[in-house]
Amino acid sequence: MSSSIELEHVTKCYPNGVRAVDGIDLEVAGGEFVVLVGPSGCGKSTLLRMVAGLEELTEGRIFIGGEDVSHTEAKKRDIAMVFQSYALFPHMTVEQNMGFGLRMRKEPKAQIKSKVADAARVLELTHLLDRRPVALSGGQRQRVAMGRALVRDARAFLMDEPLSNLDAQLRGVMRTELRQIHQRARGTTLYVTHDQIEALTLGDRVAVLRDGVLQQCASPHEIFAAPSNLFVAAFIGSPAMNLVEAKAVTGAISFADVRLAFEHRRPDGAELVLGLRPSAFEDAAFARDEGLTRMEVVPTVVEDLGEEKHVVFTLAARAVIPSELRTDDGEVARDAVFTARVHAKSDARVGQPMQLALSARHAHLFDPSTGRALHG
Ligand code: ADP
Repeated sequence: MSSSIELEHVTKCYPNGVRAVDGIDLEVAGGEFVVLVGPSGCGKSTLLRMVAGLEELTEGRIFIGGEDVSHTEAKKRDIAMVFQSYALFPHMTVEQNMGFGLRMRKEPKAQIKSKVADAARVLELTHLLDRRPVALSGGQRQRVAMGRALVRDARAFLMDEPLSNLDAQLRGVMRTELRQIHQRARGTTLYVTHDQIEALTLGDRVAVLRDGVLQQCASPHEIFAAPSNLFVAAFIGSPAMNLVEAKAVTGAISFADVRLAFEHRRPDGAELVLGLRPSAFEDAAFARDEGLTRMEVVPTVVEDLGEEKHVVFTLAARAVIPSELRTDDGEVARDAVFTARVHAKSDARVGQPMQLALSARHAHLFDPSTGRALHG
């Protein structure tokens, strides 16, 4: 049974005055998987806890399956939560762990057995039902924790960074598994992570939060291809989008000493922020299209990733970094450090000038004062 979750102007002010969640409107359709993503402290957990009923709302309303649950007790909301710390009972078998909640609710034994068996099949845990947690791998334990939530037959699932305790490789495997489990079980899911790759790979839609405010909620493709503002542009994508101060000139955008041919409707001389994903570049030696803009750069770092190379270089133009994502001490006026993603066979070398070809097709423009994306 998958219910929709609707948030209507949901706001949380903590007693200390922190406005952790600020007027969020969001609708998760029945069976949909929506990921809340944003840097640490942006209000993701607070929002999830409000949906769970573990935190009171300051303003707004929450509906589950069309029913207003804004002031309903947590245990009556009929939703299942999976947390980062998925403490399993060490003295119980997988089967007993998975059925624990149902036993507490005094469901008939036969019914518990069949629900656990169904969930175990979805999670491929059938052959492990008699084991104890100590004899399971990290990924298997995570699946048991998921199973505990699945058997509940809840109206929706809330997950708070459930994979963050796992090492990088296992996290990748579990991501794929979670996606498959969702495809089979189709439970409405609201999932919190600070990891943008997890967000893009798991979500039907991704909701990006900043300082408690929803920035954009769209499909992973749209979030990546058409970020609504500078913050989303800089936060989503790895390596990150290159952002630089630029100017509109007739038929082009100019930055550093580059004129990037680009049809736009901005007045001559208008100041802009130009965003270029690393994939907008190619080593000119491997660029087929003749219409590309060429630029000479001197690599300061070359990373060989096997199937591609990342070439890092500095431009004589000012970098643009949204304040929340700045890792230095607020130093804004510095030269832009760009990353280009080039062909694996590129012979880019540190200190050796090289030609890059740049495509304007995927260039992003932003208003420097509001940070909003400009279209055309
Ligand atoms: P996230 O999950 O995105 O890291 P949180 O929802 O945990 O963010 O926190 C959002 C903001 O609210 C942060 O500034 C945090 O310090 C603050 N906050 C969280 N919990 C409390 C609390 N119980 N009392 C006061 N402030 C809190």
